Amino acid sequence: MSSTLHTPTLIAKKRDGHALSDEEIRFLVEGFTRGTIPDYQMAAWAMAVYLRGMDEREATALTLAMAKSGQTVSFEGIKGKIVDKHSTGGVGDKVSLIVAPLVAAAGLNVAKLSGRGLGHTGGTIDKLEAIAGFQAALSISEMVRQVNRIGIALSESTHDLAPADKALYALRDVTATVGSLPLIASSIMSKKLAVSSHAIVLDVKVGRGALMKTLDQARALAALMVKIGTAAGRETAALLTNMEQPLGHAVGNALEVQEAVDTLQGHGPQDLTELCLAIAAQLLTLAQPQTSLQDAQAQLQQHLGSGQAFGKFKAWIQAQKGDVSYVEDVGKLPRAKLTSVVGAPISGYVQGLDALAIGEAATALGAGRAKKGDPIDHAVGVMLHAKVGDRLERGAPLATLHANRKELLEAAERRVLEAYELGARPIAAPTLIYERIL
Ligand code: URA
Repeated sequence: MSSTLHTPTLIAKKRDGHALSDEEIRFLVEGFTRGTIPDYQMAAWAMAVYLRGMDEREATALTLAMAKSGQTVSFEGIKGKIVDKHSTGGVGDKVSLIVAPLVAAAGLNVAKLSGRGLGHTGGTIDKLEAIAGFQAALSISEMVRQVNRIGIALSESTHDLAPADKALYALRDVTATVGSLPLIASSIMSKKLAVSSHAIVLDVKVGRGALMKTLDQARALAALMVKIGTAAGRETAALLTNMEQPLGHAVGNALEVQEAVDTLQGHGPQDLTELCLAIAAQLLTLAQPQTSLQDAQAQLQQHLGSGQAFGKFKAWIQAQKGDVSYVEDVGKLPRAKLTSVVGAPISGYVQGLDALAIGEAATALGAGRAKKGDPIDHAVGVMLHAKVGDRLERGAPLATLHANRKELLEAAERRVLEAYELGARPIAAPTLIYERIL
């Protein structure tokens, strides 16, 4: 072994603020994956990275090494361009349910491996399982066949994707090293790059309900992820989007499916519709560079208006053995036994609506998991009637809670009430999409 490929030397090199070579980074990741580099050395290196940072080249090398640390999925046999989107996680984020059929209606392919939700942000698969019969476990060959037939397949990820990231994240979680920009960017992108796609759009959320609390942080993370994706040969772009307040009105699995159906039928909430069109248009222009963003938006708007996107959604649900009558008649979706309306304590304008608090209230009602493997209740959640900028009279409904357990209601009601900030000052609806990073 050469002296540079000696773990304590590499930890010291990073500790002292020097960049590691691609070979040195691969040595660390491969050794850690094999178990020849123990947790304590990798944790020390992670802390050195946290304190000293990494340049773009190092972050790209780390991402690629982690992406190659386990199984990779090529989706061989899919005809045409595969596009993918990723959200850094938000409350009420049902965008994938809408964007997948929307871009499939425009002729692109979506072959997506997805996880389940944890904490206050829900997972796409959890939402889809509110539809009776929906089968989330597809083999890769089933996905390929389904994509070639209808343009969409989504499966629970049971593959050993980027195991080095999984192990490193577990260490970071207990060593105060989660919040490092290059480590976050490599972690997210390693899982994306382990699965083949031509184009990736990253929805980087900013605000109280998001991983990135400030626009500056989000911009830096997005720019680094776009650089990594592009360096790895994928067409990559990012949108920086508002997560101060939840997206749309519905938070909770069945409630979110219902809102996704509304949006696919052309009468969804304005913010959700705008974001879905923006992400879908970005995907379309990355996959078809000859199409302008404006033309892409117009084309996609037409797919919403004509019912084509909703038709794709139904074909998708049916292909994965879901009962389509649940989305044709959303009244069939699981309903909670109890509802409780939280009213405005004073007259005024909604000045703020804490996304994190609403996400926590929905989780407390059973819509999300406190820990991996917990069961979830698809029926429960929070329906928001007022968002930032709206004016209400005292007593007017702010939100309706949907619950199956009476004893959980009171604390959730308190949390929802705390989430709303009301005041006399008129305030405009906040900006939804801050920036686009290419
Ligand atoms: N999400 C990830 O996948 N990794 C991180 O490091 C942070 C958020």
